[in-house]
Amino acid sequence: MTFTPHGKHLIAGNWVAGDASFTSTPAHGPAHSFAVGTVALVDQAARAAEAAFWSFGWSSRGERARLLRRIADEIEARAETITEIGCQETGLPEARLNGERGRTTGQLRLFADHIEAGDYLDRRHDAALPDRQPLPRPEIRMIQRPIGPVAVFGASNFPLAFSTAGGDTAAALAAGCPVVVKGHSAHPGTAEIVAEAILAAITACGIHPGVFSLIQGGNRQVGEAVVTHPLIKAVGFTGSLAGGRALFDLCAARAEPIPFFGELGSVNPMFLLPAAMAARGDQIAQGWAGSLTMGAGQFCTNPGIAVVMQDQATALAQATLAALHAVGAQVMLTEGIASAYLQGRDRVAGARGVQSLLTQVCDRRQATPQLFQVRGADWLADHSLSEEVFGPLGLIVTAADPEEMLAIAQSLQGQLTATLHLDAGDTDLARRLMPVLERKAGRVLANGYPTGVEVCDAMVHGGPYPASTNFGATSVGTLSIRRFLRPVSYQNIPAALLPADFGA
Ligand code: NAP
Repeated sequence: MTFTPHGKHLIAGNWVAGDASFTSTPAHGPAHSFAVGTVALVDQAARAAEAAFWSFGWSSRGERARLLRRIADEIEARAETITEIGCQETGLPEARLNGERGRTTGQLRLFADHIEAGDYLDRRHDAALPDRQPLPRPEIRMIQRPIGPVAVFGASNFPLAFSTAGGDTAAALAAGCPVVVKGHSAHPGTAEIVAEAILAAITACGIHPGVFSLIQGGNRQVGEAVVTHPLIKAVGFTGSLAGGRALFDLCAARAEPIPFFGELGSVNPMFLLPAAMAARGDQIAQGWAGSLTMGAGQFCTNPGIAVVMQDQATALAQATLAALHAVGAQVMLTEGIASAYLQGRDRVAGARGVQSLLTQVCDRRQATPQLFQVRGADWLADHSLSEEVFGPLGLIVTAADPEEMLAIAQSLQGQLTATLHLDAGDTDLARRLMPVLERKAGRVLANGYPTGVEVCDAMVHGGPYPASTNFGATSVGTLSIRRFLRPVSYQNIPAALLPADFGA
C-alpha cells in the first residue's frame, strides 16, 4: 500500500487547500506537498470549535465515550497506512510506530472508560442549612465543567501519541472541549491520515464537525494565531523550551490570559547510590545506555545525567561505554533536531572540566551516542550543563561525597523525572535525597529507567518549570483531563437547571 496525502487542512469537516504549500522532509520515501496554514484558517477553525462547544460541551459522557472509542477504531482501520507514512516521515522504526499506535488507541479507550465512571467530575454537595445561626447556608453543588475550545500542538517526537489524536486531544474531547490541532511540520502526512480517522468517527457519531480541526504547519504565524485567538481557552504543547516559552508568554500577554500546558525540557537525572552500584553497577550501566539511546534519545524522559560517587565513576563509565559501542547510528526526527543535537554535544564537550569519553561522528540526520564526564564541582559551577541535549547524549556527574550529591540534587531545575538506583545499604542517603527530588520532579522512581511512561490513573508527566509550564498538571494519564475542566458552583439552582452529570 502506498499512501499519497492530499495535503489539505481539515477545517470543521471540510478538507481545505491553500495558495501556498510546503514540501515535507521525510527520513525516507517520497516527499509530499502540503498546504501552509494561515491566520484566517485558525480563525475559521476556532469559530467552528466555539459553535460546536454549545452542543459538545453539554453532550453526555456516553456520547463522548462513543466518539473516543470510534476514533480508536478508525485509527486501527488505517493502521498500515499510518505506520507506512509515519515511518517515512519520522524515520522511527515500524515497531515503534505500531507500539505508539497501540498506546494512542489505548489512551482514547482509557479516557472513554474514565469519563463513563464519572469520578473525574469531583461532584460535591453542601446541603442547605436554613436554620443555621447567625446566617442560613444555601445549598451549594460543585462539578467540573469543560472550558471551551482547546488548541493542541502536535509533538515532533510522538507523531501519534502526542499529536493529532494523542493524549492532549483525547483528554480535551473526553472533557467536552472541541480541539484545534496545529500539526507539526515533521509529520504532516501522518497528521492528515489520523485527522481522516477522527473525521470518520465524528461523522459516524453524528457530532458537530467543528469539534475537530487540523491546521498544517509551515508558518510560525499559525502557532501564534492559535494561542492568541480569543475563542481558544487553553493550549496543550510538547516541544522545545524556547518555543514553549515564547508561546506561554503569548498566552500570558493576552487580554484574557489562558493556561498554557507546555511540556518542555528535562534531563531526568539518575542518582546511582553506592551500595546499588557496588552490587550491580554493570547492570545499571547497561540499563542506562538502553534508556539513553532508545528512539535516538528523542524522549522527554531520556535520562541524560547520571550522578555517581567519584570512586565508582570509572566502573560506570567503562560499563556504559561497552553498552553504547553496540548502538549504531539512528536517524533523527528532523534535520533541525539533528543539528540541535550536534550543537548541544559541542556545548557540553566545550564546557570547563568536561572529559569526553565517547564522541562519534553524526552524519547529517543520523545521531550516534555520546558520553561525557564531569566533576560535581564543575557541574555545579556551570548552569548550562544541566540543560537538555535532545538525543542520545549522556553525562556522568561525579560526587566527591554524599554532601556533594545532595548539592547536585538541590541545584537541579524542575524535572519530569528523577531516578534513584538503591539497595538496602543506601537507605540513609536515599532518605536525604527524597525530599529534594520530590520538590524537583513530577515523578520519582527507584531501580528503573524513566523512559516508557505508563498511561494510567496515577501517572504524572509534568513537574516544576522548565519540565512543564504548569506544575499542577500532567500531560499523561487520566488526571490530564483536569487541564481542560474548571470547577463551577451552583448555588440554590433548581435541579431541573443543573448539568445532567449531577444526576447519573
Ligand atoms: P519546537 O521547535 O518547540 O516546535 C514545536 C511546535 O511549536 C511546532 O509546531 C512549532 O511550529 C511551534 N513553535 C515553536 N516555536 C514557536 C514560536 N516562537 N511561535 C509559534 N510557534 C512556535 O519543537 P520541535 O520542532 O519538536 O523540536 C525542536 C527541539 O525541541 C528539539 O531539538 C528538542 O530540543 C526539543 N523537543 C523537546 C521535547 C520534549 O519532550 N521535551 C520534544 C520534542 C522536541 P513550527 O513547526 O512552525 O516551527
